[in-house]
Amino acid sequence: MTEKGISKLLSKTKYLNGLQCPRLIWIEIHEPEKIPETDPVTQHIFSQGHLVSELAKRLFPDGIDISTEDFMGNISSTIDLLRERKPLFEAGILVGKLYSRIDILYPAAEEEWDIVEVKSSTSVKDVHINDVAYQHYCCNQSGLNIRKCYLALINNQYVKGGEIDPEGLFNIHDITDQVEEASVGIEGRIDGILEVINQGTCPEMIIGLHCRDPYECPLTDCWDSLPEHNIFSLYYGGKKSFEMYNSGIVTVGEIPDGYKLNDKQRIQQACVASGEPHVDREAIHGFLSSLEYPLHYLDFETIGPAVPLFDGVRPYQNISFQFSLYVVKDEFSQPEHFSFLVSDTDDPRPALLSELQKTLGNSGSIIVYNKGFEEGILRDLAAAFPEYSDWIEQVCSRLVDLLAPFRNFDYYHPAQKGSASLKAVLPAITGRGYEDLDINDGQLASISFLSATFGGMPEAERAKIMENLEKYCDRDTEGMIWIVDKLKELCN
Ligand code: SF4
Repeated sequence: MTEKGISKLLSKTKYLNGLQCPRLIWIEIHEPEKIPETDPVTQHIFSQGHLVSELAKRLFPDGIDISTEDFMGNISSTIDLLRERKPLFEAGILVGKLYSRIDILYPAAEEEWDIVEVKSSTSVKDVHINDVAYQHYCCNQSGLNIRKCYLALINNQYVKGGEIDPEGLFNIHDITDQVEEASVGIEGRIDGILEVINQGTCPEMIIGLHCRDPYECPLTDCWDSLPEHNIFSLYYGGKKSFEMYNSGIVTVGEIPDGYKLNDKQRIQQACVASGEPHVDREAIHGFLSSLEYPLHYLDFETIGPAVPLFDGVRPYQNISFQFSLYVVKDEFSQPEHFSFLVSDTDDPRPALLSELQKTLGNSGSIIVYNKGFEEGILRDLAAAFPEYSDWIEQVCSRLVDLLAPFRNFDYYHPAQKGSASLKAVLPAITGRGYEDLDINDGQLASISFLSATFGGMPEAERAKIMENLEKYCDRDTEGMIWIVDKLKELCN
């Protein structure tokens, strides 16, 4: 089969994309150049999925791996090896225009097989069921009898101790009944998607909740024509934003007076109309009065891979590998900077804790942005290193959340566009942001650290990433100082 022929087949990914949106699947087939290149964060999610799949194969020691780039080679190996009645990894099933690869095809009772789909997720989702329903359909059409369908998902209670134990890392979920339910009418859905693929023109589609469900659609052009302060920038607009959009309300400014909005959304609407920020000086003053010198501005960067890297750690547990800290002794002092960034593949937590204890001292407010996150990291550290637990308890009691005045809308600037995140607030209130940095968000920081530290990268490249990580974490903390200074200015 030619490459062009293969690209016209309906794979399980294309089936899922077709279920999500006809326009998406049509463009994927006819104008693939319009699909943006995979970004580093998505790429990392794919590599993580690959690693998880490899570990799941260890659950079946007598399995035969037929994963290969050679499309027809994979199909013919599958046909040959089905006779051996051994677990097959990545068996390829081709029936007419339908094609599916099965993560694990397991020989069950005589002449019957089980499907095991491996996912890096920790819970069963509708998209997994639809994925397996498609595989099940392809198998049935090719004459394979499927007895049961399973999902091998990550067990988030597993704790690493030495080598990864696949028996502990995975939870196996029987989803046979759900797959049967999702299989009702599947033939019609497949025919519908094939019809879309075969039509000469791209279907028109209206943006909706499906653009982000089950996955963020990679096509952004459907959203490009929306004006500034569009209805989707409404603070926690969610479904309400789509309802308004479908009734013809395109911008926040167009929301009629009688429409039920909460107080924060009303503040946002008023700021869009005036172009001016909303400032509740009394509330901001109250927040500033709660700060006690010496002020500590703290930020952690973390990793949380599906497969834990260190003993005593669970899947997806956030492990801090870096912190940045500014200390301002009193109102007349210049900020003093301290930082920590682990430089090897060891568990970073003992060294991080020791450095943190040296620099955080025993008094003064510890200002963070989104306290729940930093507190979660600290409490996990206390559980793992009980010798620090009393001190960490004291540290937690000193935490002050700089997000609070923005989440409460004590201050709101129209340029925040409905967000109270640090990335939205910092440029809106200070005019300075992250655009000059190579690493400019937490997810990118996390995957950059993983590839620089565990990816076997050349030293010069690694050193550059470490420098960029320092700059990024520094900006998060220095940015908090700028914000507090601005709030003080507003209250004077
Ligand atoms: S952005 Fe939404 S409407 Fe546009 S192709 Fe993607 S899913 Fe479809």
